Amino acid sequence: MQRCSHLDHVHRVHGKTHGCEECLKMGDSWVHLRLCMECGHVGCCDDSKNTHATKHFHHTKHPIMRSIEPGEEWGWCYEDDLMLDFRDPAHPQPAE
Ligand SMILES: [Zn+2]
Ligand SMILES: [Zn+2]
Ligand SMILES: [Zn+2]
Repeated sequence: MQRCSHLDHVHRVHGKTHGCEECLKMGDSWVHLRLCMECGHVGCCDDSKNTHATKHFHHTKHPIMRSIEPGEEWGWCYEDDLMLDFRDPAHPQPAE
């Protein structure tokens, strides 16, 4: 099983905004929202045309985000290209 050495970047964060921070500023729209587990930045997913969550990683190197769509409990480590299981939010694990 793949491992992720970035789990100490997962903090108890709250989304800073109620939508994608950059899209809200631009007056643009998004498809799904992702939460940066390092700093609480909310960004739009890769299906959104502005892909702000991925851009946030490239700018900040904050490695881990999770989906904040209702009912979704998965996350992603950008450094490892690894899916994470966030059913226990304080202790995410690499997904099987
Ligand atoms: Zn990782
Ligand atoms: Zn966006
Ligand atoms: Zn961040």
